[in-house]
Amino acid sequence: MKIVVLAGGVGGARFLTGVRAYAAERPGDVTAVVNAGDNVTLHGLRICPDLDTVMYTLGGGADPQRGWGRAGETWTVKAELAAYDGDAGWFGLGDRDLATHLVRTRLLAAGRSLSEVTAELCRRWRPGVTLLPATDDPFETHVVTPDGTMHFQEWWVRYRGAAPVDRFEFAGAAAATPAPGVIEAIAGADLVLLGPSNPVVSIGPILAVPGIRAAIAATPARVVGLSPVIGGAPVLGMADRCLAAIGVPCTAAGVGAHFGARAAGGLLDGWLVDVADAGTRVAGLPVRAVPLWMHDTAHTVAMVAAAADLGGTAGR
Ligand code: GDP
Ligand code: CA
Repeated sequence: MKIVVLAGGVGGARFLTGVRAYAAERPGDVTAVVNAGDNVTLHGLRICPDLDTVMYTLGGGADPQRGWGRAGETWTVKAELAAYDGDAGWFGLGDRDLATHLVRTRLLAAGRSLSEVTAELCRRWRPGVTLLPATDDPFETHVVTPDGTMHFQEWWVRYRGAAPVDRFEFAGAAAATPAPGVIEAIAGADLVLLGPSNPVVSIGPILAVPGIRAAIAATPARVVGLSPVIGGAPVLGMADRCLAAIGVPCTAAGVGAHFGARAAGGLLDGWLVDVADAGTRVAGLPVRAVPLWMHDTAHTVAMVAAAADLGGTAGR
């Protein structure tokens, strides 16, 4: 069974832990298409927060409390940077984490593509899934505010989402192409999952890479989404602010309708919501309510099994 997952960082990584365990029992193989919009250059280093979160989590190297960055992290360099410039410490660059960015930046400077570099980094982390950035091309999510435009990381991490948002922009999207393997994986999948990641700034920028939305629309695989909103609230993070900025209600029904039924020009063949949202209806879509809290791997595997079942691919 071939499973493709569209994923952001912390939520996507947790979900992928369950997908990997589910696939191990089939057997099956998993490709994660990871958001590239968070990628940012700081201190001359290319940093890919969502790719790294997924890589560290699946590789057993993530900090379990924070959900991002390295376990056993120290912050000497961050403190030294702040000593030069009090403003420079807003992004959590840990000492261990820095090694990843140094290696990535060196390989990129030597002419390797982001997906080649990611594969190289994964030789160490062995995530057990194929990790693909949505695109190798320059691509960043920017936030347009009344006072100007800033990188998404600055809005999210530095200002904690407090700056009012006029709109999100996917800089570089028009000229971007999907990374090698992305379209092939979607076209060759049995099941495509839109994980419970932020619909606006994690799944949105993946779909903004020209060709990916069309590949999902055309795949013979079933496409099932899992709601990142439970009982009208994001479980974690600021998806409510992001959804408000694009005029989508922060409800399981709102996000389901935002992705839409494939039969009606949308993306999904089925939509999973939490039991707290039982009774949710989305035009043209089968909706099923199951527990969607990723408390641990067992709960997450059950979510994946429910998604596979809803997609009608179970036991195929
Ligand atoms: P980020 O890039 O680190 O922000 O991570 P993602 O976009 O992949 O995931 C963040 C989203 O995951 C948030 O919008 C949350 O609503 C959602 N999320 C986190 N934990 C859970 C969970 O246990 N269940 C569900 N259904 N959604 C979750
Ligand atoms: Ca992210």
